[in-house]
Amino acid sequence: MRSTDRTTQTTITEESPVEASGLTKIYRIGRTLVTALSDVSLRIRKGEFLTIMGASGSGKSTLLHLLAGLTEPTSGKVLINGVNIADMSDSVKTQFRRRHIGVVFQAFNLIPTLTAEENIRLPSLIENGGKSVRPGVLDELMQTLEIRDRRHHRPDSLSGGEQQRVAIGRALVMEPALVLADEPTGNLDSENSTRLCKTLRELCDTRRRTIVVVTHESAVADWGDRCITLKDGRITGPRSTGKQERTRNGEETESLFAEKETP
Ligand code: ADP
Ligand code: MG
Repeated sequence: MRSTDRTTQTTITEESPVEASGLTKIYRIGRTLVTALSDVSLRIRKGEFLTIMGASGSGKSTLLHLLAGLTEPTSGKVLINGVNIADMSDSVKTQFRRRHIGVVFQAFNLIPTLTAEENIRLPSLIENGGKSVRPGVLDELMQTLEIRDRRHHRPDSLSGGEQQRVAIGRALVMEPALVLADEPTGNLDSENSTRLCKTLRELCDTRRRTIVVVTHESAVADWGDRCITLKDGRITGPRSTGKQERTRNGEETESLFAEKETP
């Protein structure tokens, strides 16, 4: 990092773009305290496809929101390229997230008054003279996600699966270095689910994007380079993925993390 003002100049370029240490999140509901996440430490490498599994209520969404800087931890910190995102001002954090992080929310969070295409373009529409969508990306995304013929529909006239695909399109349209997706295949049929996993895998392998996917489905988790499991807000361990098996058997080379393209 050349600049002295690390909080405003951060981009995602280094080898360990995301590091969480001692992350704890405690919610207070009236007099009751709910520990959603407890002392979670995690390092995610650039170009890594990490999957997170765990039962409902185990803290997966909370972890993803903390990694995105959407929620403040009760204790612990999230470093992006060594910068504590809690040290960024709200406006810097928002701009940083818009440019470098694509988030797929479990509840989609689409804007009801905008069409599918407008929802996907939203990050560029609010960029205000900054980064715009690279020509061809929008069309390619709509093609891959099979929502081209629904582009003029508003969310209330889209099926759950179509809404989910629009939410995925919105997260990918700015070609972010880091993609955080919360159960992105939850409403997809197996064909669309596989297509999405392949797309994410390709983004890692050919573009060195860093991807974190929370999922209930082991078939989805197996697309990752590494899978961790959460239970009661704690990491309970690595879970083997097909990828890890293939790597051990020597069918995959170690070039996965070698330099391919600097985003
Ligand atoms: P998962 O995504 O694995 O289903 P969550 O991260 O959503 O789990 O939730 C973990 C725990 O934290 C659950 O017990 C949930 O009820 C609680 N929780 C999550 N968000 C909130 C909130 N905003 N207020 C209070 N409790 C919450
Ligand atoms: Mg969740």
